[in-house]
Amino acid sequence: MRGVVMHAPGDVRVEDRADPAIEEPTDAVIRLAATCICGSDLWPYRGVEDAHNAPMGHEYIGWVEEVGPEVRTIKAGDFVVGSFWASDNTCEICRAGYQSRCINAVPMGMMGTQAQFARIPLADGTLVTTPEAPPADLLPSLMAASDVLGTGWFGAVAAEAGPGKTVAVVGDGAVGVLAVLAARQLGAERIIAFSRHPERQQLAREFGATDIIAERGDAGVAALKDLTNGLGAHSVVEAVGTQESMMQAVRSTRPGGHMGFVGVSHDVALPGLELFFAEIHMLGGPAPVRRFLPDLIQRIWDRQIDPGRVFDLTLPLADAAEGYRAMDERRAVKVLLTP
Ligand SMILES: [Zn+2]
Repeated sequence: MRGVVMHAPGDVRVEDRADPAIEEPTDAVIRLAATCICGSDLWPYRGVEDAHNAPMGHEYIGWVEEVGPEVRTIKAGDFVVGSFWASDNTCEICRAGYQSRCINAVPMGMMGTQAQFARIPLADGTLVTTPEAPPADLLPSLMAASDVLGTGWFGAVAAEAGPGKTVAVVGDGAVGVLAVLAARQLGAERIIAFSRHPERQQLAREFGATDIIAERGDAGVAALKDLTNGLGAHSVVEAVGTQESMMQAVRSTRPGGHMGFVGVSHDVALPGLELFFAEIHMLGGPAPVRRFLPDLIQRIWDRQIDPGRVFDLTLPLADAAEGYRAMDERRAVKVLLTP
């Protein structure tokens, strides 16, 4: 099969890779209907993380080709959506709703789903089927559910977005704007998006933002306080992962409020005394997307939400290198790859 390999930072190629096969009795092999490039794939691309002959990709939707002898609920021909962690969905951690930290979790980045086929470990626990074969126009939204929608959703749930709440979202990438969408779906009264980019502001508004703040850092916090009687937001979602964005989120949360942080943390150190006096609830980490997938798939199926609009560039898998360049040069926010 053809698949993406990162040979070194900046050197992405689409080449022949070994066809995946059933290795464990709980595996499935899927034929991808779509895959995509994640913002986190830029870390190795830019040399911030190690990359040496690494198969790439952890987001996937597609048709089940084959299942191992112990797979019970998934069968060949099913159309499935999964998340970036394979999980058994039966251990105590999974049953509590934290499948991304399953005791048997397998990172899907190891499988490299930017490819024509992929092996999915723990298929019964990991994969969620769609009601039937999806129409083509739903594929981008189902693709978004695999990672960015589920992550934005977790951020909004962790921040306890809901009726009567003022929600603020730090970060206007794919996860940030989808946290806005999630807050709207969860019934938030007011949704404030931090964004400096006109096209991202527009998308945030279409997804449900009621207010936009273009300032960032402490100036952004001051603008947010102006909009909230000096109190800060009840619910804040952090979707970047830098020192500045984390402090902006902490300082935007009112005492007693909730902050969900879903940006992958890079060199963040939180000052203990400020955190002590902030007196806020904080929950973050790799999103347990699997917890939300059945609900998200149904909302997409019913056309209540259209999260696939976050993809602003679609390319054939063969042109994946151009997709990485486009995201690295910020010509694209999120790239969809088709087989
Ligand atoms: Zn588990």
